[in-house]
Amino acid sequence: MTQLIDGKRISGEIKEELKAEVAEMKAAGREICLAVVQVGEDPASSVYVNNKKKACAYIGIRSEAYELPESAEEEELLALVEQLNMDPKVNGILVQLPLPAHMDADKVIRTISPDKDVDGFHPVSVGRLWIGEKGFCSCTPAGIIELLKRSDISIDGKECVIVGRSNIVGKPMTALLLRENATVTVAHSHTKDLKKITKRADILIVAAGKQQMIDDTYVKDGAVVIDVGMHRNEQNKLCGDVDFEKVKDKVSAITPVPGGVGPMTIAMLMNNCVETAR
Ligand code: NAP
Repeated sequence: MTQLIDGKRISGEIKEELKAEVAEMKAAGREICLAVVQVGEDPASSVYVNNKKKACAYIGIRSEAYELPESAEEEELLALVEQLNMDPKVNGILVQLPLPAHMDADKVIRTISPDKDVDGFHPVSVGRLWIGEKGFCSCTPAGIIELLKRSDISIDGKECVIVGRSNIVGKPMTALLLRENATVTVAHSHTKDLKKITKRADILIVAAGKQQMIDDTYVKDGAVVIDVGMHRNEQNKLCGDVDFEKVKDKVSAITPVPGGVGPMTIAMLMNNCVETAR
């Protein structure tokens, strides 16, 4: 029987644990505050920002919303970030991406203090991750490690293949799997004979951003498959980078879309917020 890796349940467990921890912190007089900055009114960004605020409210983290108009100058945003860096009441800073085209997202990310970088995108956070120092890690890959661990899937010594090398998913995933003693291969759009490589995987993590590109011919019998992709198909239903129906009977465990990796990202963001106060 294929194990369905239940991100909804596991993210719920994590949120309950965090809620209890935050309640203890509050009782000891410590409050956590996340500053959420949004520029413009992109509808998808507004949904993400609202979900983050709701998760904060549920766990007991105070969230402060900062909204700048689409037409705001980059200097205005940088000044706001600097002000939040200096504010001792603000523990974490999140600038919702993407930013308008006239703003340099890398420059904005570099302006956030690494000690408040709850998204884990600052180069200092990335460096800390690679050398094994304590710091913030990008939330989606951190969530995948939790999904595997809490589903009793061991990583140590496993052959792991990641399809995708983005700064947000593929690269930090590589560092985290190495930390867990996996042997890691990273594939990307220039990789030759992708199938040959993905079929080696005991654990296959797909973050290519290509709807249902991975079918059963890419997967070894009994592998564990983690699908990071998020798309809407022709029927307007959510689906991933993996063709779930074709793959599910061949593997030992798989994440569904929706309900797999997706819910873990916010849970790990909340964990990073709590980490600022630990
Ligand atoms: P991205 O920045 O577009 O990166 C995609 C990566 O996949 C790139 O490294 C690219 O290679 C590689 N790739 C593309 N086509 C390929 C192919 N045919 N064969 C092999 N490699 C290929 O995407 P991302 O931000 O990492 O996100 C990936 C997917 O995950 C998207 O669907 C996104 O919506 C989803 N996502 C979901 C969550 C969540 O919380 N559930 C979070 C983040 C992302 P090159 O580097 O050579 O271009």
